Amino acid sequence: MMGKRIDGKAIAAELRAQVALETVAIKKQGIEPSLAVVIVGDDPASRTYVNNKKKACAEVGIRSLEFALPKETSQKELEELVQRLNKDPDVDGILVQSPLPKGLDEKAIVNEINPQKDVDAFHPVNVGHIMIGDYKLLPCTPAGIMELLRHENISVEGKQCVVIGRSNIVGKPMAMLLMHANGTVTICHSKTKNLKEICKQADILVAAVGKTKFVTKEMVKPGAVVIDVGMDRDENGKLCGDVDYEAVEPIASAITPVPGGVGPMTIAMLLKNTLTASKQRRG
Ligand code: NAP
Repeated sequence: MMGKRIDGKAIAAELRAQVALETVAIKKQGIEPSLAVVIVGDDPASRTYVNNKKKACAEVGIRSLEFALPKETSQKELEELVQRLNKDPDVDGILVQSPLPKGLDEKAIVNEINPQKDVDAFHPVNVGHIMIGDYKLLPCTPAGIMELLRHENISVEGKQCVVIGRSNIVGKPMAMLLMHANGTVTICHSKTKNLKEICKQADILVAAVGKTKFVTKEMVKPGAVVIDVGMDRDENGKLCGDVDYEAVEPIASAITPVPGGVGPMTIAMLLKNTLTASKQRRG
């Protein structure tokens, strides 16, 4: 049995086309969806992410505004910018690119964002909505994964789901969304005992660890669906995931590659969230 490669790039393209259509429609009503992207300092990875996000916005007709601040920016200055964007009626979404330079309190900045404009869905109000299961804005990566599963007609109901990683941006919300989809969910982390055995039980295994080839063939049940969130670097500096793809692919029923799996979905969901935020706030 060969694992079916889930083509996140193609599915993300479909999603973007849908967002582009909806953006045309909303513009006809005189509304221009817009995303404010804030970047502080000169981290090259952050710069690449911000450029990709701006490019994706342009492709679907969403206006993006960049606010690039020097790394010496104070907490107060950054908070004042967020407050200004909160008040700006033309801004639908606010995204503060992480990581922020040392000395800036990221949590305090996220708390400052108007939850209605919080397109990353990191604000405690949106996190609360996710917990309750009454979603408005969903965190982009887990939401993108749910979209991949839906697209591939992979049902979650009654399945054993194992999520490796418990970060606020991926692991925790991922587990919550799988649970709301009626999966039976186990969350693993660095203190988990018998990790291999637990993973081997999974019908749906999601790896969000940040370690190259962390998930080996021995950890995967034959026929499992394997979702690789990792964006790691191999010994040659090449982008790769958390899963040993070559070894796992032949035994999985479906698997996401890196690159071209979860990554493109994350950006597509950001565009979708911006559109949702625009529709919701402007009625
Ligand atoms: P993170 O905040 O560093 O969290 C990593 C998680 O993995 C933690 O919960 C940690 O456990 C757990 N972990 C670490 N070592 C482990 C071990 N030996 N056994 C079991 N669990 C272990 O990372 P993140 O932000 O969630 O990101 C995870 C990966 O996804 C990274 O590669 C990141 O680049 C990637 N990512 C990709 C996208 C995308 O769009 N494709 C988006 C976001 C992130 P503890 O909590 O116990 O420390």
